[in-house]
Amino acid sequence: MLRRIDLANRVSTHSTRQLAELMPRAEVDVTSALQAVHPILEDIRTRGTEAVVDVVEKFDRVRLQALRVEGAEIKKAVQNLDPAVREAYQTSINRVRAFHEAQVVHNKHVEVAPGANVHERYVPVRRVGVYAPGGLAPLASSVIMNAVPAQLAGVDSIALASPAQESNGGLPDSGILAVAGMLGLDEVYAVGGPAAVGMFAYGTDECEPVDVVSGPGNVYVAAAKRAVRGLVSTDAEAGPTEIAIVADRTADPAHVAVDLMSQAEHDPSAAAVLITDSPSLAKAVDIELEERVPDARHNERIHTALTSPQSAAVLVADMDEAVAVANAYAAEHLEIQAVDSHELADDITNAGAIFIGPYSPVSLGDYCAGSNHVLPTGGCARHTGGLSVYTFLRTQHVVDYSSEALREVMTEVVTFAESEDLPAHGQAVAARFQK
Ligand code: NAD
Repeated sequence: MLRRIDLANRVSTHSTRQLAELMPRAEVDVTSALQAVHPILEDIRTRGTEAVVDVVEKFDRVRLQALRVEGAEIKKAVQNLDPAVREAYQTSINRVRAFHEAQVVHNKHVEVAPGANVHERYVPVRRVGVYAPGGLAPLASSVIMNAVPAQLAGVDSIALASPAQESNGGLPDSGILAVAGMLGLDEVYAVGGPAAVGMFAYGTDECEPVDVVSGPGNVYVAAAKRAVRGLVSTDAEAGPTEIAIVADRTADPAHVAVDLMSQAEHDPSAAAVLITDSPSLAKAVDIELEERVPDARHNERIHTALTSPQSAAVLVADMDEAVAVANAYAAEHLEIQAVDSHELADDITNAGAIFIGPYSPVSLGDYCAGSNHVLPTGGCARHTGGLSVYTFLRTQHVVDYSSEALREVMTEVVTFAESEDLPAHGQAVAARFQK
């Protein structure tokens, strides 16, 4: 089922960039989606709420009377929650909170010389717009993955948007509303896709603009986030999901197959990549997929994702080559199922998140590992990490020198300033010590 890309014994002769180009990638990427997204954003920037209503009607077939969901609907969603589902949500919240609490950073104070104090403080942004996907599968889990770190960072104002669901009377999915209620979020909008990103970035008369837009989504959401970056900050480009599995002949082909399917289930654009030095494992995984995919609930979506250009089995000569290929690909999710999984993981430099060994599947990370599931896609793991408390914090340096400490370094500042032909810089220091 998975097409083959044979890189065996070709890895060392290619640069990382060349290897990345040989790896499977989606036909519709964020760059091409930008063309579709720009007019939508421009319309929202100029016409505000009316444009948001029109875009929602076009893509989600709901004509909204108001963008914002009434508080009573959020309360009702919490009340109507199945107790078992509520417990699953709560377990996820508890574990995500426990892990992300460790990211809360404390201000740093450094005396670089006597009386020369520099502090670093971590200041939360004031307002965040969180996106929870709701096209093919509404992801209540994404509300947790965004809102818990934002709350721990100390963000005052958190707005949530998720697509209006025709099947839920034009409200967002009830699981999403219920998690919002459980986390104490009361500002929720029934707006999906690029319209939500535009509404958050530009603001409308119903929704105040935000400082950070965060959250995963399809390729259009990722493109919209790229388009508004600069006006607002965003988390990583968390587009259509990707799983890469580095596996040797000891891996269980059934485990590899179910894990590939678990991410292919998200989206026909999802990428599922096996990287192995064992052609017989690749064949066994194919047999498992042929057997399992037809019985899957979302078999069409999974089949499309697995057989599209972004998915493949990549054959390499050994596990060193597997690591080199995995680093070049920079997967959103990287599983390692091999004899030396921990040692191999130490050599991985580029991945959104790493899942080690047979008992750490990606779907654990999607819900209840405690780690964050909003992760960089499309190779962005080369330069960006996943969503965290830091996404919502800014660092500020505070300089606090005494007279003696400034005098001590005056000569160096004046000399440095002269060397850059900026004498007024030096004078600003020297003037303080002239009679
Ligand atoms: P979504 O909410 O991201 O997108 C649905 C919205 O897309 C619709 O409401 C509509 O407004 C908009 N849309 C649809 N077609 C459009 C078009 N042609 N032009 C402009 N806008 C359009 O939900 P989804 O589609 O189910 O996608 C969710 C995605 O999130 C999946 O691809 C999944 O893999 C991904 N995901 C990524 C991560 C991550 O961290 N990388 C985590 C979870 C989910």
